[in-house]
Amino acid sequence: MPKHAIAIHGGCGTMLKKLMTPEKELAYNKALEDALIAGDEILKKGGTSLDAVEKAVLSLENNHLFNAGKGSVFTNTGTHEMDAAIMNGQNLMAGAVAGVSNIKNPISLARAVMEKSEHVMLAAAGAIEFAKKINVEFEKDEYFFDQLRYDQLLKAKESDVMVMDHSGDTLSNDDTFENGGKKFGTVGAVALDMHGNIAAATSTGGMTNKKYGRLGDSPVIGSGTYANNNTCAISCTGHGEFFLRSVVAYDISCLMEYKGLSLKEACDIVVMDKLVKLGGEGGLVAIDKNGNIELPFNTEGMYRGMKAEGAEIFVRIYK
Ligand code: ASP
Repeated sequence: MPKHAIAIHGGCGTMLKKLMTPEKELAYNKALEDALIAGDEILKKGGTSLDAVEKAVLSLENNHLFNAGKGSVFTNTGTHEMDAAIMNGQNLMAGAVAGVSNIKNPISLARAVMEKSEHVMLAAAGAIEFAKKINVEFEKDEYFFDQLRYDQLLKAKESDVMVMDHSGDTLSNDDTFENGGKKFGTVGAVALDMHGNIAAATSTGGMTNKKYGRLGDSPVIGSGTYANNNTCAISCTGHGEFFLRSVVAYDISCLMEYKGLSLKEACDIVVMDKLVKLGGEGGLVAIDKNGNIELPFNTEGMYRGMKAEGAEIFVRIYK
């Protein structure tokens, strides 16, 4: 049983090896490794799982390869509206922000909501007002601009669909990895620390071409993000509408708590059966208090990785 462990994801979707260049694959693997190392550094020094998941997600938010922070996808009006959540399994404290723009690291703002406000979730203009008050880092629009992502928006607008950044059914193969069209992903982390506490964090730009203040599952406690020392810590990625309707993260926790299922059994039922039957594409990273880790997904691939005490770093993209 490892004393500490961390698992992360950088989104899921139609990731076909034949469409990935070796350089791109290297860049993704390196980004995942960097995030795992950032979290692991904290855990091995006796730091908290909360610090570890924040640090790992922060590292991914600062990398343009992923659909979170710097790399967030475009909304229908050409803006970036980000969602993030963090939860501490030790005391069930949670913080989330939804639809925030120009925030460099939404995950840290979510943590500030948990620690410096009496609320769990702040949205849009109100969240920005709070962010200004507590002095979090802002970035100009240009920081979030990426030509490939902008082209992805134009493509999505042509058919008036909202697309998961790497979903294959609405974009042609020309828009896949080589051209950058489907290479991004929501990011998340779960961890267990030496003190026996688990935590979860998720951050996203949501879905390309989203409209009307659309929010996904990522910032919703119990859907895209959840942590409870008695059961598990979960961070999801996938088509948010289905994850919201399936209350994915809490459903897994409930299967463990009320039915006594193992982490693996609970994850398999929710990701490989319930979600599939609804048509919900996606995956998640999960950890329990014993350091068991599950990385299930029902899509072609998921950027994912884990590092347990005493074990080598593991990163994978495809099945
Ligand atoms: N779950 C995210 C959302 O629906 C998207 C993703 O995972 O890429 O906002």
